[in-house]
Amino acid sequence: MKIPIINSKRQYETIAQKAEAAVLDVMRSGSYILGANNKEFEKEICDYLDVKHAVTLNSGTDALHLALRALDIGEGDEVISTAFTFVATSESIGIVGAKPVFVDIDPDTFNIDAAKIEAAITPKTKAIIPVHLYGQPCDMDVIIDIAKRHNLFVIEDACQAIGAEYKGKKVGTIGDIGCFSFYPTKNLGTMGDGGLLTTNSQYIKDRVVALRNHGGAIRYHHDEIGVNSRLDEIQAAILRVKLPYVDSWNKARREHAAYYNELFSKCDLIETPKELDNTYCVYHQYTVKIPNRDKVHQMLADKGIGAMIYYPIPLHLQKVHAKYNFKEGMLPITEKNTKLVLSLPMFAEITKEEQQEVAKTLIECVEKANSAVAV
Ligand SMILES: *Cc1c(COP(=O)(O)O)cnc(C)c1O
Repeated sequence: MKIPIINSKRQYETIAQKAEAAVLDVMRSGSYILGANNKEFEKEICDYLDVKHAVTLNSGTDALHLALRALDIGEGDEVISTAFTFVATSESIGIVGAKPVFVDIDPDTFNIDAAKIEAAITPKTKAIIPVHLYGQPCDMDVIIDIAKRHNLFVIEDACQAIGAEYKGKKVGTIGDIGCFSFYPTKNLGTMGDGGLLTTNSQYIKDRVVALRNHGGAIRYHHDEIGVNSRLDEIQAAILRVKLPYVDSWNKARREHAAYYNELFSKCDLIETPKELDNTYCVYHQYTVKIPNRDKVHQMLADKGIGAMIYYPIPLHLQKVHAKYNFKEGMLPITEKNTKLVLSLPMFAEITKEEQQEVAKTLIECVEKANSAVAV
């Protein structure tokens, strides 16, 4: 049985009629960019997240980069974040000319270790970007407290965590700014690129509305260098069809995670994900830790199980940041976990039989790979 890490087609089939009708409506309307669907979606997602303002954008990367622009963070500034994430997080810091300062992770949650943030703060620090990786909320109380005491902004990278909650609040609405991605494989994915920035600040909202459309709030009046980061009406229409399903999809992911945990409980070599107290994790990825990961990954691939490594190289060791001379060994927990993690097939529509097959195959491969080493 071949089991992919995600099956977007299966989800499409559940909403096909509504999505096709919505797209056809857009095509017939003659309004293709930043029209009624964008406006309505911005309102609907504000209600869903319980936040004052939402600005649709072209991508999650743009949300991160325009968040920094809106806060006037750039050359000479430092931004604290994690190296255990997708490159877009630190890339956005680089786009505005600021320096990423990486703090090590908590090995249980894979998120930035809030207890280590304070030691990384310098007079140049302007913001913290916590990433709710794999759909698991960061320890926001601690992060917000540090930010308040040191007068720093908090930009939440919630690209993998729409619908996740920390103490009853949706992530992406707790800091000054929340950034979301609607890349097709995200928990709320469209059928192209898309992103969103959320904030409770009218000032930040107005800045981002201008920045996304060539730096001017009034047409043909340009106050600053902006970008073209407008969302297509077709994408907004698809997102409006899908938004009402996000909670049920996230709930299904949580049930699948619990089932995997149960299936793996008989194998001591597989470390299953942990959740922080008082959080609602939405399992964008279901990620286990295993010894001999690379060998097991290859064995799974040979058997048609689509597991993935998120992410194989931590950001401080990526060539893109070579000019900062970050050294191997600088973030020991990040580096160690990079070698252990493996994300397994996870999507709302996965069946129990498929999960059983994944679990059976993984247990076999892990046991085989590790007994070979022992000899
Ligand atoms: C996907 C993702 C992004 C970037 O989103 P795009 O829409 O692909 O630009 C940023 N950060 C994280 C953690 C992501 O997973």
